[in-house]
Parts: sequence; structure tokens; C-alpha cells
Amino acid sequence: MWCLGVILTAAVSGQQAGVPLTLPPWTAGTLDLHHIVTGRGNSTFVVFPDATTMLVDAGAVVSAPLHADPLPDGSRSPGAWIVDYVRQFHPTPARPHLDYAVVTHFHADHFGEVTAGSRTNGAGVALSGITEVLDSLGAGVVVDRAWPSYDYPSDLRADAAVDNYRRFLADAVARTGLRVERVRVGSASQFRVNRDPRWPDVGVRPVAANGEIWTGTGEATEQTFPPLAALAHADHPDENMCSIGLRLHYGRFDYFTGGDLPGDPEGAPAWQGVETRLGAVLGPTDVHQVNHHGSIDPATPGFLAALRSRVLIVPAWAPTHPSPDVLKRLLNTRYYAGPRDVFTLALREPMTHAIGARVRQLAAPHGHVVVRVAPGGAAYSVYVLDYTSPARRVTAMFGPYASR
Ligand SMILES: [Zn+2]
Repeated sequence: MWCLGVILTAAVSGQQAGVPLTLPPWTAGTLDLHHIVTGRGNSTFVVFPDATTMLVDAGAVVSAPLHADPLPDGSRSPGAWIVDYVRQFHPTPARPHLDYAVVTHFHADHFGEVTAGSRTNGAGVALSGITEVLDSLGAGVVVDRAWPSYDYPSDLRADAAVDNYRRFLADAVARTGLRVERVRVGSASQFRVNRDPRWPDVGVRPVAANGEIWTGTGEATEQTFPPLAALAHADHPDENMCSIGLRLHYGRFDYFTGGDLPGDPEGAPAWQGVETRLGAVLGPTDVHQVNHHGSIDPATPGFLAALRSRVLIVPAWAPTHPSPDVLKRLLNTRYYAGPRDVFTLALREPMTHAIGARVRQLAAPHGHVVVRVAPGGAAYSVYVLDYTSPARRVTAMFGPYASR
């Protein structure tokens, strides 16, 4: 499997020669975006130019489907592998604390699955995914879409994993002074990531959550989901639609990540196509993480044409990621002209057969994908790191790309 990856990456023209053995250490002024592979869900570790750190999601599917082996292996839980990764690349490895942790939405592949076999902490709370990571590393602020009521679009507390997560937060708030906040869509100040006066032009803005979408003007937002009382129960928003979307910028560089936001669910009411509304607000975006693992409905032509991304990262972990038609859309130059490099984090073998020859158009099908933005934000490079061993050697390097 890994040999296949090496052959495929070597075929891509944008790949650089003279690849370093390991990722050069982060230095002040650099923005790093690490898309971590565990084979069991999403997790992105961000180091801002001022050394502020943020983790977006910490998935940990335990009852995984066939052909979704844990990566690099099952000797540790997904949460423990995320902790190990963060310790390796944290700007202060001796104290690998997280300033911010974001849970985009409450699905196991984004915040963790709780089972009867889950390890527990002293407060009797199960440690899986985000709770395991927070228990190990600690965090300053946790941001999610539902604090403190957890009641939209239904009573989330009835879900065992959400209930466990809430109990973890309540204990940590009381015991460690953790802060928890509901995401403030449109806010340019919820995340303070520009504390170094040498690098002031960097920020994070939540652009979507629970149907509330930033308008693109100031901090104004619009509620795009109808009131629940006006909807048939079958048309209520689902968990994916409520995902938090984040836009990061650094100088001219723009990045988007949006959990499992849907594209245009077939036959569904138009308001459920969150991407359509969001594309117009986001506009040109250098790098984006493809929504919902590239699974069936995201990456609509309109969304791709609005973002015109040079680099697209598909957080593939299950054998259904990305669907062949989504990959075809990502590569389609009719939606927007020009070259683009598409990375998948862990392309499972069954999907390579379903995709067929187009798989050779991937920049790299396997590896942790690190986007490293140079001081000031004018240029960036992409490093692919080996996920088969904890050494995490660099296997390929792409760029530098000019930010637009
Ligand atoms: Zn997901």
C-alpha cells in the first residue's frame, strides 16, 4: 500500500527534489496547519505565527468499518496518537499545552466514540478522542457549537458521547479553570492568535455553525435555517449541517475548514446546502480542507468555483472517502481554471479500485499533510509525512506556492 503511494507521488510534477528527512522545526512568524492521520477521524493541529496553538477536532471511531485500520497501528488509541503527534510538533514540546480546542460537531470521527471499554479518568469520565487529548495536554479554551445548553436541533445530552463530553468539561472547568465557549459566528476576536506584534495580520473567524453564516461584512451573520417549528421533522437540520466552519487568514493566505458541512444533499430543501451560501462569502481561498471527507455530496461545482483553491486536502479515513465523483469534481478545470494539488490523508485500498486511473492525479494519497505558511503569509509549502511510523519522516514536499 505504501509503495503505491510513493510511486504515485513521484509522478506529480509539482513535487520538489531535495526533500528534508524530517519537518524543519516551527519558527516564530510561521503558520503551520497539520492534518493528522489516525485512520479513525479528523484532527488538525495549528501553530500560529505567535506560537498560539489550536486543535480542530480529535476523532476516534472505535467501532470502525472494515478496511479502516487504525494508523499507524492499534498499539495506541486515536486520541493517544494525536497527543503523540502534537508533542512532536508543538512549539514548546516540554509543555505541549493547547490554547484552543474546537469541536466542529458531535460525531465520533470528530470528537470521539465512547464504549464500555473506554479508559476513564479520576472523575469517571471516558477518555476517547477530544476528552483523551484534553486530559493529556490541557487547553485554555474549548469552543463548540452548543455550549452550554446542548439542545439544538435536538437534545444532544441524550447522546452518551455528548453526555460524557459535557461531564468531562464540567469537571475540567471546576478543577483546572478550563474555559468553554459556544462558537461566535462572524467574530474576529473569539480566537486571539496575533499576540506577537511582528505578525499582526493573522486571524481566525468562525463563518458557519448551526445554520448561522457570516455575511462577509463586519461581524454580521444571517440565520439560514428556518425555525424548527416551521419544518417537518424529516427536514430538521442534521449534525453535519450544524458543523462549525472556520476561515483562517495570514496576510494574503486564506484557509477554510468546515467539518462535515454538506454540499447539496439530493432532493433536500435548498437551505440545507450550506456550501452554496458559504462559497460566496469565502471567495478565493488558497487551501481548503474538503468538507465531509469528500463523501458523496460536498464540493459542489459552485463551492469549488468560488474558492478556486490551489491546494485541496481530503481528510479521508474510511473506505468511502473520497467518493469517485467528488474527486472528479475536485480535479475538474471547467469549474475553475489552473492547476491544483489534491491530497488525501489515507486513501483506503477499496477506494483506489473504485476511483480507477484518476487516482494517479492525486498529489499524494497517503500521509499527514502539513501546510507551512512562510512569515507574512505571502507563500506556503506542503509537506507530506509518513504515517506508518511515529518518526513521521517527510516523504514529499510541494511548492512553494504564492498566496493569492
Ligand atoms: Zn466526519
